[in-house]
Amino acid sequence: MKVVIIGGVAGGASAAARLRRLDEQAKIVLFERGEYISYANCGLPYYVGGEISDKKALTLQTPESFKSRFRVDVRIRQEVIAIKAEEKRVTVKNLSSGMIYDEPYDKLILSPGAEPSVPDLPGIDDPRIFTLRTIPDTYAIRNFIEEKKPASAVIIGGGYIGLEMAENFVAAGLSVTIVQRSDHLIPSLDYDMACGVHHYLRQKGVKLIFDDTPLAFRPQGDENLEIQLKKQILTAQLVLISTGVRPDSGLARGAGLRLNFRGGIVTDRHLQTSNPDIYAVGDAVEVRHFITGQPVMIALAGPANKQGRIAADNICGIPSVFNGSQGSSVLKIFEMTAAATGLNEKTAQAAGLDFGKAYTWSASHASYYPGASNISLKVLFEKGTGRLLGAQATGFDGVDKRLDVLATAIRAGMTAYELTDLELCYAPPFSSAKDPVNMMGYVIENLLTGKVEQFYWHDLDFLSSDPRVQIIDVRSEREFAAGHLEEAINIPLPQLRMSLDKLDAAKRICVICESGLRSYIACRILSQKGYDCAHLAGGWRLYAAVMQEQLCAGDAGRPRGSRLPRD
Ligand code: FAD
Repeated sequence: MKVVIIGGVAGGASAAARLRRLDEQAKIVLFERGEYISYANCGLPYYVGGEISDKKALTLQTPESFKSRFRVDVRIRQEVIAIKAEEKRVTVKNLSSGMIYDEPYDKLILSPGAEPSVPDLPGIDDPRIFTLRTIPDTYAIRNFIEEKKPASAVIIGGGYIGLEMAENFVAAGLSVTIVQRSDHLIPSLDYDMACGVHHYLRQKGVKLIFDDTPLAFRPQGDENLEIQLKKQILTAQLVLISTGVRPDSGLARGAGLRLNFRGGIVTDRHLQTSNPDIYAVGDAVEVRHFITGQPVMIALAGPANKQGRIAADNICGIPSVFNGSQGSSVLKIFEMTAAATGLNEKTAQAAGLDFGKAYTWSASHASYYPGASNISLKVLFEKGTGRLLGAQATGFDGVDKRLDVLATAIRAGMTAYELTDLELCYAPPFSSAKDPVNMMGYVIENLLTGKVEQFYWHDLDFLSSDPRVQIIDVRSEREFAAGHLEEAINIPLPQLRMSLDKLDAAKRICVICESGLRSYIACRILSQKGYDCAHLAGGWRLYAAVMQEQLCAGDAGRPRGSRLPRD
């Protein structure tokens, strides 16, 4: 059997290695148009900033090492320019010699990846404008910084690559502005969870511009580039375009394979395309969303590597299936970590799901042991069943671990009730006896079983002007003095039982505390005494973060349903 693989990085190299492990006799030819195979694309930003200083660290395998370990015929700088599906041959151009030749196959695996999606705008070809996909792209950016010594960079697009590059540009000494078309960074996070990230980035000196997009780029002398946005003009010496990716599926289109409307290659669960002798994996393929079952494009290294292995299995007669992707992703932003898995509010709404949401603010480990910091965690669950739909977290310690547990729980089809039952590793330096994931389970269980009702930061404006509502803030006097809602009455939690005379039993009591814990306790006291009450999900902390964001973004008039906190 002869298997030809197009693309020698995540999916392609993974497929080649698995094929060889399963079939020592197979002839395996791997075509890669670049110079490198199996390289660390996820590590590229850190070479720009200097965190990774050894070029060799970026290349996990050389063509020679891969060949000697797996006996794969690796052909670098060779681009497949056509697939003759009927003849089961690919046409290849040797980019070094210019020679064009055909290579036959029994089975073909496509892992061509995705290319940066670059807007077709005036001036986009300026040499100061970069994208980041490959090792040569990385060297080009690093060389430009070393030779031209730019003082400032504008990053168009605030997704994962944009943010990683922001950190690394700062590390390289540049002042950085990020321009984002929507109202928040990191699209896998909801707006409220992203607000803390925005605040942190501004503290790090990164300027953020939202709801804006470039229209044109104009050279200003030898050094500067003017970036005409819809609403303002910026000047920088370096621009990075990181506005997402699109499937590199031209070859598949030319071969008549079935594509979706975004150009993603359509496969079945065995990763077989519309041609039974051709498999496709990685960023170029459409996948089923693990939770909604809907077709989606999710460009991540984990799914690409797994799919490469699954395609190889199927070619070797093992009927493995790819069960879909849930988009688990994690990001380092200076010292902060942001992570997400599954659905967020936008995608859950688009899927037509009836969902609830819960927030916690738990210590990463026992607070008496040095180094603990709080994790902001948000989980979406299906109302009624409690099925877990998605999770997001930001913080400085232990974020990845909690999101990995939640990603696993979602994969296992668990409900929020079952989070309470998880027995997770505990010792003071690592966690608490009730881990933040257990705590989230308790919070959602309380909601699902009607132990407490909650309202959200975006309800507070309406509630505070509703004459049928009384707002109680159960934080300490000191906390209250540092910032509170004008309409709120301060009754610190320890005094609540003695202060019931201050409450209007005819009104709905809306309770606020810092994180949502004390307000929950207050609600349990009040509801057992017959009051109609609810508490602020995520607490004043989350509300203030969102309000601060609206102030910084200069959009206090934005119709978010809330107002700025008054001190
Ligand atoms: P790729 O790994 O991109 O490989 C495709 C290869 O195919 C390319 O080398 C290309 O040259 C070659 N090719 C294409 N067409 C042809 C042709 N006609 N002939 C020959 N060769 C061809 N994902 C994460 O999960 N976590 C991260 O932290 C993360 N960080 C990233 C950081 C950066 C800067 C980038 C660019 C990506 C990052 N990703 C990350 C995404 C991850 O790298 C991709 O999801 C993954 O590499 C996709 O694998 P793939 O095999 O589909 O494509």
